Amino acid sequence: MEKIKMTTPLVEMDGDEMTRILWGMIKDKLILPFVDLKTEYYDLGLLSRNTTKDQVTVDAANATRRLGVAVKCATITPNRQRMEEYPELTEMWKSPNGTIRAILDGTAFRAPIVLPCIKPVVKNWEAPITIARHAYGDMYKAVDMTTEEPGTAVLTFKGESGAEKALCVQTVDGPAVWQGQHNKETSIRAFARSCFQYALSQKQDLWFSAKDTIAKIYDGEFKRIFEEEYETSYKAEFEKAGITYFYTLIDDAVARVVRSKGGFIWALKNYDGDVMSDMIAAAFGSLAMMTSVLVSPDGTMEFEASHGTVTRHYYRYRQGEKTSTNPMATIFAWSGALKRRGELDHLPELVRFGQRMEDASLRTLEDGIMTKDLLPLVEPGFQARGVDSEEFLDAIASRL
Ligand code: NAP
Ligand code: MG
Repeated sequence: MEKIKMTTPLVEMDGDEMTRILWGMIKDKLILPFVDLKTEYYDLGLLSRNTTKDQVTVDAANATRRLGVAVKCATITPNRQRMEEYPELTEMWKSPNGTIRAILDGTAFRAPIVLPCIKPVVKNWEAPITIARHAYGDMYKAVDMTTEEPGTAVLTFKGESGAEKALCVQTVDGPAVWQGQHNKETSIRAFARSCFQYALSQKQDLWFSAKDTIAKIYDGEFKRIFEEEYETSYKAEFEKAGITYFYTLIDDAVARVVRSKGGFIWALKNYDGDVMSDMIAAAFGSLAMMTSVLVSPDGTMEFEASHGTVTRHYYRYRQGEKTSTNPMATIFAWSGALKRRGELDHLPELVRFGQRMEDASLRTLEDGIMTKDLLPLVEPGFQARGVDSEEFLDAIASRL
């Protein structure tokens, strides 16, 4: 067959350890035989970040803004232990994901890959639930303190103009604990825009929930900005796409989510998203099956797996062992990026190919061929066989 042509490159960010090995296998076995792949390649592996003083991460993020689509491999965020493992490191480089998120001003959307032979813990969930977590402020940039004596706490804002605004937080009659938190209008608005953009690209309903009955001003501001963005910029497109935007209180949302069939995007404030994304991931099955997309307010998208570099498997791989590391989330990062590139460039062949990569992967699992992490999760009575990563990818390639 003739290879599928691309017109614009996508940004390829290579990474570390076991996921770097899977990266090469996915390209060799599933993509390069079929697609005339055009990428702008950035090596975000730890040693390349070190030799470029992390400039490569910044360059990759800027290239993503320019080209609109990226796919990223998992990368090591160095800590003290890694500094010993890699003595050549000149600095404890920051998380690449943090750097990229800041440059793209993006929101991460996490969605599980679902299939009939692995049922979610919640029986009525038929389609994935995607979580969008606001990744700025609130408790994560708060200050706390304790006090020992009776007294009063006052919240004061000093404007650059010299104007002041003050509020009494509380007068207490004994020891107490306090917290001051904030969020920024621009950050909430960027979050809202990313959510509306992503809902449109997925043609899925968008839910947003907060607690504006209690935090009337704080959460009320989130609610107001979402509504304002919806009314002024997205309502017409949502109606055309046949999808809805829906705000409800967080407690009502939790109850509705559990009773739902799934198949929507749930936008949450920072803390709510932190908690609920772990709940959704656990209820759907496995970290190895969670995908992630970083979406900018302008619709730029960077696709990746939610999991890390799977270090323990890599150490065994280096000893010459074949490992059974699950490549599904990394495959879906590639297919997502190819589909998005195809949509933006009006290349239906490329979109179809991305879809076929996903179908072939899912069919392989449904045929009972899977990596070993999934074996304990399959429905009772389902016949499944555990294989190593390479056998699994070969099985997908033969179906593709
Ligand atoms: P991890 O790489 O996600 O792995 C944690 C454990 O989860 C693994 O040891 C493995 O369990 C299981 N697992 C995760 N993905 C799997 C897969 N695809 N197939 C099979 N099993 C899988 O998390 P970590 O060990 O905490 O972090 C390792 C490195 O990744 C760190 O250096 C961290 O900085 C980095 N990291 C990067 C990203 C990113 O780039 N987005 C995200 C998170 C972490 P078993 O060993 O029991 O089989
Ligand atoms: Mg969490």
